[in-house]
Amino acid sequence: MTNKTIFDPLAVCRENVKKLSPYSSARDEFSEHKQGLTFIDANENPYGDGLNRYPDPYHGELKEKLSVVKEVPAGKIFFGNGSDEVLDLLFRAFAEPGSDNVITLPPTYGMYKVLAGINNVENREVQLLDGFQIDTEKVLKSIDEHTKMIFICSPNNPSGNLMSENSVKTLLENFNGLVVIDEAYIDFTPADSWSKALSEYANLVVTQTFSKAYGLAGIRLGILYASPEIIGILNKIKPPYNVNSLSANTAMTRLENIRVVQDQITEIVANREQLIKALLEVDFVTEVFPSDANFILARVDDATLRYRQLLDKGIVVRDRSSQVLCEETLRFTVGTTEENQKLLKALQELKTT
Ligand SMILES: *Cc1c(COP(=O)(O)O)cnc(C)c1O
Repeated sequence: MTNKTIFDPLAVCRENVKKLSPYSSARDEFSEHKQGLTFIDANENPYGDGLNRYPDPYHGELKEKLSVVKEVPAGKIFFGNGSDEVLDLLFRAFAEPGSDNVITLPPTYGMYKVLAGINNVENREVQLLDGFQIDTEKVLKSIDEHTKMIFICSPNNPSGNLMSENSVKTLLENFNGLVVIDEAYIDFTPADSWSKALSEYANLVVTQTFSKAYGLAGIRLGILYASPEIIGILNKIKPPYNVNSLSANTAMTRLENIRVVQDQITEIVANREQLIKALLEVDFVTEVFPSDANFILARVDDATLRYRQLLDKGIVVRDRSSQVLCEETLRFTVGTTEENQKLLKALQELKTT
């Protein structure tokens, strides 16, 4: 089945959203970048260095720039105030509160469940298999006519692995709703982004972020790639100025200096591999999971104890033990070379205790 021909996002979006016409802002009608015009349409203070003006609601320039870097057409790009807003807008556009459901695949990023709760949408959890891969058969069996979205995190947080291409394809080809692939950590792996497959799958949505590899968690800028039809629906419901000028300008500068980001990624990936080797040498570490991200999940003898001991030494890690398949695990973010050395020194000292 190629559902390219049959999938219609308007058919799965909420009734009220289908009927909406978006709020038309002053900057919708006349973009700030049009030269030679006198702007007395938006009740802005006329004095200032640019920040006195409302931003372009669609950030066209930034989309053009990102389009070149990521090789995705600008018309298939959408921005939000962090991935968190992007994901929330997907719920608000496509999942009817009180009747629809989504499928999530624990252990995974906690935000999908939180957003399902906030939006009063049932969260159907289908646990990953051993090895943190997708149980596609079980996912397909869990789908009913009210299932609107499946959330796949790849590389997955907290396990660090990519989901197999075949399992993702199976879901894309056999589910008549949105398959949302969260690629927050995609820059740390040589694997291709699913955004490359957008023209093959009309129900594919890919999210990325400036918060991880791009080093800009503070500016809150999330990215979504999808068909222009899906983007059109999201544009109808987004707050008009959800991404501010300071964030957009900062992102633009970072994209213009992409080499800096690439060099940092190279260093982080090299440090990750070193850290994995070093963790394997620690006697109370019983298992280290391979990682395609900038963090490492490791199983230890007693996660609560080791967490506290590391904290006593001034090192904050994440205890992931409460998640399924993650009993007695800690998650370590790859830091600077100095931070990694500090971690390893602390782990060595703990060996004997
Ligand atoms: C960190 C992270 C994000 C990023 O969220 P932002 O709101 O863009 O900062 C998204 N998804 C996953 C799985 C993450 O771990």
